[in-house]
Amino acid sequence: MRRSNLGRRTRNATNQANYRSNRTAQERDDGNERERIRISQTREARARHSTNNRESLNRAAFSYDVSIDYSNYQCVVIGSMNSVCSHCKALKYKNEANGLCCANGKVKLIPLDPPPEPLYSLVSGIGTDSIHFLTHIQQYNNCFQMTSFGARNVVRENFMPTFKIQGQIYHRAGSLLPVSDSDNKFLQIYFMGNSPQEIDLRCAHNNLVKRSIVEQLQTLFHQHNQLIILFKTALDLIPSDNHKIVIRADKTPAGVDLQHTRRFNAPNIDEVAIVVVGENLESRDIVLHRRNDQLQRIKETHRSYDALQYPIIFWQGEDGYDFSIKMINPITGSETYKKVSSMNYYSYRLMIRENEDNHILKCRRLYHKYVVDICMLKLKRRD
Ligand SMILES: [Zn+2]
Repeated sequence: MRRSNLGRRTRNATNQANYRSNRTAQERDDGNERERIRISQTREARARHSTNNRESLNRAAFSYDVSIDYSNYQCVVIGSMNSVCSHCKALKYKNEANGLCCANGKVKLIPLDPPPEPLYSLVSGIGTDSIHFLTHIQQYNNCFQMTSFGARNVVRENFMPTFKIQGQIYHRAGSLLPVSDSDNKFLQIYFMGNSPQEIDLRCAHNNLVKRSIVEQLQTLFHQHNQLIILFKTALDLIPSDNHKIVIRADKTPAGVDLQHTRRFNAPNIDEVAIVVVGENLESRDIVLHRRNDQLQRIKETHRSYDALQYPIIFWQGEDGYDFSIKMINPITGSETYKKVSSMNYYSYRLMIRENEDNHILKCRRLYHKYVVDICMLKLKRRD
């Protein structure tokens, strides 16, 4: 390289560096904005002008163009769900992996029961009540959720109709009864002992819901939700405010009473401990006081986490994922020492199967929220 060229390049570089450092803040912002517009226009042009080649749709979702007919792209046509898993009868698309649904027969979970009326019809999508219910299903769930939703930092932006969450999400539960002069909140509403007042309180903070539907669902949960039934029984058994109830994070081994385990795929009163305040417990256990003003954070790895936050989906208070679920031998059906991962568990739960009604998927917008929740909290653990 000639010395004179080297000198010229160095001078150019120095000039550019001087220009950058001498710019005002306004000039710098304008320059950055111009650069951002240039990059986004280049990307859009690439997406628009590229045709039927597979690479051309990479990241195309970020520059979606209504004038492009994406169905003309070969890679968009994925066929129909006519591949059936021989182990679990999940319906899949042709190119989906064999093990996606049940790890080739190694994961087998107790099916979730379809809900009774009126919930069954409300999620059907047929009729005006159902259309109304599915439009406002998140508000209906808010009426009945037993834990509160929180985040370390919620950022609301003026021009955006959504909010961003920074840091961790958490769900918290209070005591079973409110401290004197406080309103009943979340789980405490179930134990007011006065049905019309209970409905009033549920509707007070959710003005888009119909009182008649809230009343019917309230009756359903009092009859069928095993967690509510369990909490009511425990409340009668707790001798004083100095005692608390403990629901273990993991299911205890099934033992000999398999029928009982099948019937109640949720914690039952035999699995609940009543202990005095001060006793040491595992950090993942749910510990509910009879009455105090403290909130407890529910760990996402507790098996009741999903049911406490999504009663419309888990209407019986069914167990979600926990660390004690084991894989089975696909040939003999017997349990192995290998644990089912949270990814295995939720892949299995969210599948459409032959001759099976998947209530979770029918909950539409609430299902979307639930999926985001489990992705944020559970799957990121990469266990
Ligand atoms: Zn399968």
